[in-house]
Amino acid sequence: MPRADDSAPNSGPPFADVNLFAGDRPLRDAAARSGLDARALSEAGAFYGSAETMDLGRQANENPPKLRLVDPQGTRLDAVEYHPAYHALMAHGASLGLHGSSWEAAAAGGAPAPCGQGARAALVWRAVQAEAGHMCPLTMTHAAPAALAATPASFGRLAPKVAARAYDPRAVPIAAKRAVTIGMGMTERQGGSDVRANLTRAERADGGWRIDGAKWFMSAPMCDAFLVLAQAPRGLSCFLVPRLADDGAPGGIRLDRLKDKLGNRSNASAEVRFEDARGELIGEEGGGVRAIIGMVALTRFDCAVSSGALMRLGLSQAARRARARRAFGRFLVDQPAMRGVLADLALEVEAATALVFRLAQALDRAADDPAEAAYARLVAPAAKYAICKRAPAFLYEAMECQGGNGYVEELGLARAYREAPVNAIWEGSGNVIALDLLRAASRAKDETAAVLDALAKSAPAAARPLAAAIADDIASNDSERFARRAIERLAILAAAAALEGAEPALARAHAETRAAGGFAQLGAADLGGVEDALLARAWEGD
Ligand SMILES: Cc1cc2nc3c(=O)[nH]c(=O)nc-3n(C[C@H](O)[C@H](O)[C@H](O)COP(=O)(O)OP(=O)(O)OC[C@H]3O[C@@H](n4cnc5c(N)ncnc54)[C@H](O)[C@@H]3O)c2cc1C
Repeated sequence: MPRADDSAPNSGPPFADVNLFAGDRPLRDAAARSGLDARALSEAGAFYGSAETMDLGRQANENPPKLRLVDPQGTRLDAVEYHPAYHALMAHGASLGLHGSSWEAAAAGGAPAPCGQGARAALVWRAVQAEAGHMCPLTMTHAAPAALAATPASFGRLAPKVAARAYDPRAVPIAAKRAVTIGMGMTERQGGSDVRANLTRAERADGGWRIDGAKWFMSAPMCDAFLVLAQAPRGLSCFLVPRLADDGAPGGIRLDRLKDKLGNRSNASAEVRFEDARGELIGEEGGGVRAIIGMVALTRFDCAVSSGALMRLGLSQAARRARARRAFGRFLVDQPAMRGVLADLALEVEAATALVFRLAQALDRAADDPAEAAYARLVAPAAKYAICKRAPAFLYEAMECQGGNGYVEELGLARAYREAPVNAIWEGSGNVIALDLLRAASRAKDETAAVLDALAKSAPAAARPLAAAIADDIASNDSERFARRAIERLAILAAAAALEGAEPALARAHAETRAAGGFAQLGAADLGGVEDALLARAWEGD
């Protein structure tokens, strides 16, 4: 991108019609390391970075979904109407397989395990930058087969419809559709994180199950079916509840209200009631949490990918502007204090990118490789925790790099900033995720020790002592009190190790500035000699 000359409005070109792959060096490197198809990724990068697609994102958020409870005759509809821009984004995402590409081999008769996480993550990374809200139904659909796998017949029936590269928003029964979307109704008002407190009940009826109760948050309520946790006589169980019955009649899911949310406005999140809804048991009665556990790993992975992608968007915009805008006689990018901020932002993105793609590899290999399964079990919560928690502060800093313009809506960063916190809240809020790490570690002590040992061996020297500190925190009598410290340390260690395999000089800077801990704003760290390299990578291809 040429630098602005003195006759320009001192703000540079808008962030539109950019290739979100070509302009993202860490992503291109990660894709190359994972052997991904660069041409296909570049095409998707051009699509999601085009002014037209970015504008679909704006329209989908400025025209949020509307609840249509009844028709003019007063007949209940329990429907949500979305703006055409939302449907266009959904259709494109589905055509790329964002909702099910990892299940294509399984749907064709392979083992019921996902694969191709890196390829899909590389696409999600760009889709989120154009519009994050529509990823909610795509993410839930993508994760659903991991739960359905607990009942092979259900998996066999639905996996091909999840894997189909199509989007079918029609209100017709699942049997009449080639492609479906699947949502989830896990949490409830009185017990979100603690699903054992769920009150929704399931009873045997007519050879199946009857579900009655309420869900305080059920997003994307126009999905074709929902994975619902309900109390059956033998305990909390997982059910697949279709929105419409086989004959097309309403399936007993009543919508009460749509949430008025901070961000995530293109996506509808509803309060719902199940009234004599019909469900199909997934897994064993009483084994609801066991059935959904594989699904949760995938949705948590997507939270990390989404937050990493939002940070990338912030960095791209901040870097573009700093290279075009002059203040006090120099381009912002040549002002040492701004250079430090941008380089620190770039380092966060490098670390998030490397960690996400290393984790994608582990998720792919987990079914056949116990060491990779153990890595995925421990590092997925850590990546979700750290990247999602970092994103709001990061985006705030990226906005500030643009001065007052960053705070207004047109640039899109204000929207990204409002979006970011939800990734830290849903799919396990901070403390819950940190406690999940303790649970995973206590159930597999030897595997945990092996993962920490391997991470220490592959991380730069400054990060290595973290392995012992994490082990101490986990083993401590007060481990819950220090769960956040343990998971933060694990995220730093895992990111440093992942970066070491990609860019050792950056890995060292990351380890040296992050491993010691303590509070520091982005831009305060001394990144030593790698600032220039970080910045060159940050805008290479722009
Ligand atoms: C926009 C949006 C969409 C959503 N969509 C869906 C959906 O489609 N389906 C669905 O099932 N749910 C959905 N949710 C619900 C979401 O998953 C829950 O809000 C989330 O899991 C947290 O549960 P909670 O709100 O009940 O908070 P709580 O569980 O009450 O947690 C409150 C706080 O307490 C902390 N906490 C909880 N337990 C402990 C503990 N033992 N020790 C220390 N701290 C603890 C948490 O970390 C959190 O900070 C959605 C939420 C949002 C915001």
